[in-house]
Amino acid sequence: MTDTVTDRFLRYVVIDTQSDAKSAAQPSTEKQKNLGRLLVQELLEIGLSDAHLDEHGYIYATIPSNVDKPVPVICFCSHMDTAPDFTGTNVKPQMIRTYAGGDIQLSGDPQQIIRVADHPALRDQIGNDIITTDGTTLLGADDKAGLAEIMTAAQFLIDNPDIKHGTIKILFTVDEEIGRGVDKVDLKKLGAQFAYTMDGETAGSIEDETFSADGVEITIQGVAIHPGFAKGKMENAIKIAGAIIDRLPKHVAPETTEGREGFIHPTGVTGSMDKATIGLIVRDFNDEGLATKEAMIEAIVKDVMPDYPGSSYTFEVKHQYRNMKAILDRHPEIVDNAVEAIRRAGMEPVRGSIRGGTDGSRLSFMGLPCPNIFAGGHAFHSPLEWVSRQDMEKAVKTIVELAKIWEERS
Ligand SMILES: [Zn+2]
Repeated sequence: MTDTVTDRFLRYVVIDTQSDAKSAAQPSTEKQKNLGRLLVQELLEIGLSDAHLDEHGYIYATIPSNVDKPVPVICFCSHMDTAPDFTGTNVKPQMIRTYAGGDIQLSGDPQQIIRVADHPALRDQIGNDIITTDGTTLLGADDKAGLAEIMTAAQFLIDNPDIKHGTIKILFTVDEEIGRGVDKVDLKKLGAQFAYTMDGETAGSIEDETFSADGVEITIQGVAIHPGFAKGKMENAIKIAGAIIDRLPKHVAPETTEGREGFIHPTGVTGSMDKATIGLIVRDFNDEGLATKEAMIEAIVKDVMPDYPGSSYTFEVKHQYRNMKAILDRHPEIVDNAVEAIRRAGMEPVRGSIRGGTDGSRLSFMGLPCPNIFAGGHAFHSPLEWVSRQDMEKAVKTIVELAKIWEERS
């Protein structure tokens, strides 16, 4: 009996792999390697003889080609860590067989209810088997669903040598949730031309766009003086910062935008009478949108400063990351093949954009173009996280179809 994707998933989620942004270690938490060692052992059992855990905690493995013709080497990628936002210790997965619809009350904490009103995707799951937590931890479907799907597809390809495919690489990373997921990836050693992260949500979705991102730092130098002798002289940098923040456009904020709209978002303020600093992040889907928003912020600063003639400011823009679509558009076959694979696996493909960055966007700019395919999980980073068996099975099928399509079209 071979393991199903659900067997694997249930085995992986009970291993605590929470990452920790405060740790400088690589990986940030040693416990991520506990899952890493199990995965390597399973990859070796499947027959991927080069599978190994490297000194940084990453796993590399190869499914060898079974055809003579050259086929581009593609890679499937997933991350082993879970988010620091909610505990991942003592995960007790619950299976609801043949979901009949309605809200799902979690057994370990009656306050935790997955409501259909808040999670409309549940409406597409009637009759499916849904896996949840008991309400006291996150589930870790983000991204152990991706791990289980890639492992199951690997086993399927090895067990069915009549399915023709090129060389397929597997990459499992650590510390994705704290933004360090690809810091130590050795792309030369990986040797793939194109990659796919299996880290999206709803079945059928493929994401080939991310935000473009900059940071802005405004430093204000005020005029400090003893408050008892301040009349007509003091220019309090804290108040200048407050005036700038107050004028930020309310309709260009995270809380008032969605879809393809960008935003300006203050992330930190420090200040004294003498000096204050405002940190902001700026997000948009293209460079012009970023530039417009940055100009908008500087115009506000320039508008405020004349009220404080003795004070001065500096305005600094820091490049953070860029929309991966610019890279992916140079190789349209990457997304085209994935769209076709999703269709062949029985779903209507839905192309989407991510209001954030991904490991895939960073890999794309490092030289490995990498869109994001669904893994099936929902309500990431929370105790309400859930995934269905059927959606994970569809993801396995998508990986297998994708391997076939790259071979067919080469
Ligand atoms: Zn993820």
